[in-house]
Amino acid sequence: MKKLEIELTKAKEQAEIANKAKSSFLTNMSHEIRTPLNGIIGFTDLLMKTNLDKNQTEYMSLVNESAIMLVDIINDILDFSKIESGKLELNIEKINLFELTNRVMDIFKLHAEVKKIDLILHIEDNVPNFLFADSIRLKQILVNLIGNALKFTKIGHVKLDISSESSADDEQRCHLTFSVKDTGIGIKPKNQEKVFHSFIQEDYSITRKFGGTGLGLAISNQLLGLMGSELKLKSKFGQGSEFYFTIDLEKADREIDSEEHEVEIAIDNKTASSGEFSDKKILVVEDNRINMLLVKTLLKSILPGSTILEAFDGTKAIKMYKKEKPDLILMDIQMPYKNGYETTAEIRLLKKYNKTPIIALTAGIVLGEKEKCLELGMDDYVSKPIVRSKLEEVLYKWLKKESQNENK
Ligand code: MN
Repeated sequence: MKKLEIELTKAKEQAEIANKAKSSFLTNMSHEIRTPLNGIIGFTDLLMKTNLDKNQTEYMSLVNESAIMLVDIINDILDFSKIESGKLELNIEKINLFELTNRVMDIFKLHAEVKKIDLILHIEDNVPNFLFADSIRLKQILVNLIGNALKFTKIGHVKLDISSESSADDEQRCHLTFSVKDTGIGIKPKNQEKVFHSFIQEDYSITRKFGGTGLGLAISNQLLGLMGSELKLKSKFGQGSEFYFTIDLEKADREIDSEEHEVEIAIDNKTASSGEFSDKKILVVEDNRINMLLVKTLLKSILPGSTILEAFDGTKAIKMYKKEKPDLILMDIQMPYKNGYETTAEIRLLKKYNKTPIIALTAGIVLGEKEKCLELGMDDYVSKPIVRSKLEEVLYKWLKKESQNENK
């Protein structure tokens, strides 16, 4: 009896080790794939802003879109492995449901117009606007369901309906039902159960016809599991499908400070102008050659006249920091030998000039990465793929703060 117990424990431990190895392999692999993809997205984006003829612009935007699609697929795989290994946690915050669902609809507006399909959002009057939920994950589920519905619908409409039922025992809570209905090809009864399983689409021939990893519905269903719900399906082959789910959410008070916040940002943007910071010294720490070139190119266009210093690893970055005293540092996180966290920690220990703003360049895929950046002494972060407007905003914000400090 004892022997059997020991063996069972051993087998369980081995299975856990194997599972961990698999998910860390997936994390590393996707980082390796994302890095060159970020290069492709960044540079095609830059190239499209140069003088291209009509054909060239079209080809470039196809390359750009394809790369973005690949990043989406990799994100799917990563999400899936995170959920499978129990590493994904919900981030519950106050949300504006009306705004969130309208943003989701905006994503598909153009696509629906091109396909001549009506895209309809209907929110019942009794649905509360302010709630506590994980906005990113809720959006992800809705984007997946609406994206699927659009993909499999040739004529007619795709409709998102939201209805609410108040909770019987707690008036601060409500049961929200989200339903995505389409007039598409529908799903055969024998395949209805299958669509929720990982890596399986209704029919393998569908993969070829419509594309996709077949992971989307499985991920949505698992995310709903974390929210204490599950995805349900009603479908008639040839007439359309309805995917729906009900989640129990806490109501929130009306937000009052959002308007003030917007005004503040608007003023900030107006006062910033590129001439103001043209004489600055920026240190870029990045181990990947292509990413380095991308950041440099963006910096040259945002802050023409600034001096750009390059360090391809943490040790060189610290040396250069002591020698050159840059005004701002852009710091990659994943680097061999000394990563961005360690490099930042060492720089912060150099008491002499440790006020220099350090902005992390994060891959944005590791759970808690952004929080860790701020905790370890960095001031802000920009997620890859780096978007010009976001980098510009962060640069202005910190260079402005920095020059105010200098004047004091
Ligand atoms: Mn790196």
